[in-house]
Amino acid sequence: MTDNTYRAMLVEEVAAGKYDQGIVDRPLSALPANPVVIDVSHSSLNYKDALSAFGNRAVTRDYPHTPGIDAAGKVLRDDSGAFTKGAQVLVTGYDLGMNTAGGLAERIAVPSDWVTPLPDGLSLREAMILGTAGLTAALCVEKLLESGAKPADGEVLVTGATGGVGSIAVALLAKLGFRVAAVTGKLESAEFLTGLGAWKVLDRETLAPFANKAIAKPLWAWAVDTVGGETLFNVIKCLKYGGGVAACGMASGAQFQANVFPFILRGISLLGVDSVELPLSKKAEVWEKLAGDWYIGEQLEKIAEDISLDQAPEFLARLHRGHGIGRYVVDMTR
Ligand code: NDP
Repeated sequence: MTDNTYRAMLVEEVAAGKYDQGIVDRPLSALPANPVVIDVSHSSLNYKDALSAFGNRAVTRDYPHTPGIDAAGKVLRDDSGAFTKGAQVLVTGYDLGMNTAGGLAERIAVPSDWVTPLPDGLSLREAMILGTAGLTAALCVEKLLESGAKPADGEVLVTGATGGVGSIAVALLAKLGFRVAAVTGKLESAEFLTGLGAWKVLDRETLAPFANKAIAKPLWAWAVDTVGGETLFNVIKCLKYGGGVAACGMASGAQFQANVFPFILRGISLLGVDSVELPLSKKAEVWEKLAGDWYIGEQLEKIAEDISLDQAPEFLARLHRGHGIGRYVVDMTR
């Protein structure tokens, strides 16, 4: 950062359909004309950032662009008057990192109604270990609890368990006393998952044989699905009577084929979860919970890997291939 420039990741379309990701000095004039200017100390990497970094136009319409749907730091200036200089804040979702220059930068400028004060009990870094993934995992768990989920019901399945949302969902559910069956394509990371509190670890392939069935043996009481596609409906087919799945992701695909049997024979609920456009007051409520009763303390350290802004493109490529594990926190001072 200089008086006139800030460092940021910049994705450029260098040839039709070919995108380059680099770290560059941007002029302060490149910041969007929004009232709250934040010096970002930490950001994080999410699957959506990987989509933006590799030219997914459903996420980002125009390039050059700076991805980063999460940011935490201190307010430098607020022309709206809502925040004082130096206030510690975080921003997740809305348009940040999609079509508004995002958090993979030393500075952002955003509307005031995207900004949440950092809750007491969380550091800026911890807030970014959680980030959008943590908020989403917490919303999934909340949906299950609102639907009546109790530890005595039986095991809760979590798919994409080594990913950002998945790993935090495993840790949160375990903290709340649930027996978690963690589904992963990375069996070599089984110890990572049991370390977060998973009761058992299942190979992703465990779900594959259910693809040809209209409905399957009831195995799990509840589920959090971060994977979508065929996996989501395979999970639905295997839920016990009255159970439900919080569906938040599409890591394996957006489409799935379904039939009505699990819904009309077992009363299964499909519970949609969005953490991006969620009203700010609700986001703040969930952040308070994550800093309070749902604080997962030392598990956060097991989930986090700290990287520099320079390393962000390399780690986003990993996420894009489905090879990420846990959460990558971008420390702007590195
Ligand atoms: P990550 O990249 O961190 O994790 C995704 C995980 O999914 C991978 O680590 C892998 O876990 C699993 N996976 C990847 N590819 C496949 C595949 N082809 N088939 C089955 N499993 C696969 O992503 P996030 O945790 O950040 O996000 C997870 C999903 O949730 C994404 O689709 C994202 O867009 C969505 N999301 C939605 C939000 C909302 O508001 N609804 C907010 C945040 C994220 P493993 O190897 O352990 O199986």
